[in-house]
Amino acid sequence: MAKIIDGKKIAAEVLTGVAKEVKALKDKGITPCLAVIIVGDNPASQVYVRNKKKDCELVGIRSLEYALPTETKQDELIGLVKQLNDDKNVHGILCQSPIPKHLDEKEVINTINPEKDVDAFHPVNVGHIMIGDCRFLPCTPAGVMEMLRHEGISAEGKSCVVIGRSNIVGKPMSILLLADNGTVTICHSRTKNLAEITKKADILVSAAGMRNLVTADMIKEGAVVIDVSMNKNDDGKLCGDVDYAEVEKVAGYITPVPGGVGPMTRAMLMKNTVTAVKNQTK
Ligand code: NAD
Repeated sequence: MAKIIDGKKIAAEVLTGVAKEVKALKDKGITPCLAVIIVGDNPASQVYVRNKKKDCELVGIRSLEYALPTETKQDELIGLVKQLNDDKNVHGILCQSPIPKHLDEKEVINTINPEKDVDAFHPVNVGHIMIGDCRFLPCTPAGVMEMLRHEGISAEGKSCVVIGRSNIVGKPMSILLLADNGTVTICHSRTKNLAEITKKADILVSAAGMRNLVTADMIKEGAVVIDVSMNKNDDGKLCGDVDYAEVEKVAGYITPVPGGVGPMTRAMLMKNTVTAVKNQTK
């Protein structure tokens, strides 16, 4: 049976460390502040934003929420981002994705000051990640790396397979595993013979957003299986890509959904906000 990597517990440890750093900053008269913009009334986004606010409260970060109506115009949104860029009391800015279709998300990301881009989505920060000179690490892949570190698992010399090539998960995840000296293969929706590739993985990270994509016959005995995805099962309950009940019998380590990567992503955002403060105030 695989060892369960408890994301909730590891995230709590990360948050305890962040809270200490926040206290130290406050003792110096600096209150870290994260501004979150949400446009429209997407219920999932509202939950994410509420959770971010709760995390801020927990670690002592001041949080500002800008809830804009669906019909917000591009120039109004860009104007708000610019105003937050100019506010020296705001250290981190993010715009909750997705935003309504009539808005240009790329322009919004590109407008955020890279020093305040705590999601690490700005092309400047993406470039930094590529050359291994990071200001911020994207929260989900960074959370996965933190989990691996916590378990004493290094990617060095290992065969690492990432399923998914999105800009926010798959691609940066692959780069971080590569930076940890893994030999990385990226799979995606056009990949042929997925099982053949995953079967060779010492570390498998799945971020396809497709439940039951990863079954026990696709896993090498003893492999580390990280499930990033958040899907719904037939009962409307949260589940990942991995057939957890069967894969845990074959894998060496496994992350549950919920309680795996999700809490780590949240914790890493808090960590990035503190990093932003340090960079802006040094
Ligand atoms: P996305 O839709 O942008 O990307 C999915 C990727 O999976 C694509 O690159 C696609 O090519 C690949 N893919 C799809 N079907 C495939 C298949 N059958 N075989 C191989 N590859 C396939 O999604 P995303 O934003 O990268 O998110 C991925 C999943 O992770 C989603 O379920 C999302 O909800 C979840 N997520 C979780 C967290 C967290 O904190 N746990 C954070 C971000 C995203």
